[in-house]
Amino acid sequence: MTTSRRHYHITTFGCQMNKADSERMAGILEDMGFEWSEDPNQADVILYNTCTIRDNAEQKVYSYLGRQAKRKHEQPDLTLIVAGCVAQQEGEALLRRVPELDLVMGPQHANRLQDLLQQVFDGNQVVATEPIHIIEDITKPRRDSKVTAWVNVIYGCNERCTYCVVPNVRGVEQSRTPEAIRSEMEELGRQGYKEVTLLGQNIDAYGRDLPGVTPEGRHQHTLTDLLYYVHDVPGVERIRFATSHPRYFTERLIRACAELPKVCEHFHIPFQSGDNEVLKRMARGYTHEKYRRIIKTIREYMPDAAISADAIVGFPGETEEQFENTLKLVEDIGFDQLNTAAYSPRPGTPAAVWENQLSEEVKSDRLHRLNHLVATIAAERSQRYMGRLEEVLVEDQNPKDKTQVMGRTRTNRLTFFTGDINELKGKLVKVRISEVRAFSLTGEPVEVREVVSV
Ligand code: SF4
Repeated sequence: MTTSRRHYHITTFGCQMNKADSERMAGILEDMGFEWSEDPNQADVILYNTCTIRDNAEQKVYSYLGRQAKRKHEQPDLTLIVAGCVAQQEGEALLRRVPELDLVMGPQHANRLQDLLQQVFDGNQVVATEPIHIIEDITKPRRDSKVTAWVNVIYGCNERCTYCVVPNVRGVEQSRTPEAIRSEMEELGRQGYKEVTLLGQNIDAYGRDLPGVTPEGRHQHTLTDLLYYVHDVPGVERIRFATSHPRYFTERLIRACAELPKVCEHFHIPFQSGDNEVLKRMARGYTHEKYRRIIKTIREYMPDAAISADAIVGFPGETEEQFENTLKLVEDIGFDQLNTAAYSPRPGTPAAVWENQLSEEVKSDRLHRLNHLVATIAAERSQRYMGRLEEVLVEDQNPKDKTQVMGRTRTNRLTFFTGDINELKGKLVKVRISEVRAFSLTGEPVEVREVVSV
């Protein structure tokens, strides 16, 4: 089918920051008059928003790109873009590898997509990877959900974790002003969004690059202050934030989360390893004892809070005993969910060139053992929901059972129940939980809460 409208397709790999960038770039393309095409083969502009964290994501990009590069030989006006972390890291080398590419752009350039595309349409091959000062977003993202939205609050990261490419590819920390964040949330509230996740690669660093110090010598703008500042945005019923760094997680922040009713009782705080020596080599800047103290404090304020995290196994030089310290931490804390990964060396990071790399067999054996423990513990943690009344924000239909809808509890557990999506989308429903599984729940709807925007 051919129409006069030009179409675009975006494939996104990786983290929530990438997904948020993709929504923003989709918004720009729609403002330019492009329409979304589900099928990349029908699109005139194809954008791969890439990730270097996982090796298979990087390999996938190259294979998708290879196919579209072939298509470009028959359809020369096809525009091919690689954005995100692979683009930032590879830069011009990508053009040498795939000469059919039109635009290679790092994550900091997402807001400049229109300008960069204009240069492409003028006949140039463009590489935009130099660090820039991110000017305030004036673009409107095209959001995939109509219920939940991400809002960037800080870009970049000043940490130097020895396994991570983020500081190389996303640049130094740059916080948005509280006013800009609040006004984006107000707009979301007006459009009917019910849940906002404030996003940053290291969100606890929020505000330390903004001017202003309190009389007690503390930064005037912190994540805690931001939560108080945006908490009463009309229409937004739930607020979450990610990703937290244990080094900067404060009791003041925990107290704010307990105090502010819209902030959900779910904390995603990556610990990466349960062993102090490994943590030191990762340059994470905390000990497992400190991590345990944070979780203890959270549970003192909010006994039912859900805790999730990220962990890496098989970091260079990790001994069996050190790995067992990770297992021990996982067992002791009782995580509701854990994203696990076997260490994989990322180009340009310090740990990638260390000589004490572990074999793939050892890494995959450890990953398997950790995943097994995680599933067992998550199943135990799920038991506490049995018979309970939980507030679920309905997001969508259950793709596997059209008679059911699905949403999340405040603690972020995926929950299914019988209902009509047309009636329930975006509603907060009290659900009596009747079935529990490791990572999801099923229940019966008891009461639908009408949300009145004030
Ligand atoms: S805190 Fe560490 S792991 Fe997280 S983005 Fe920054 S450098 Fe990477």
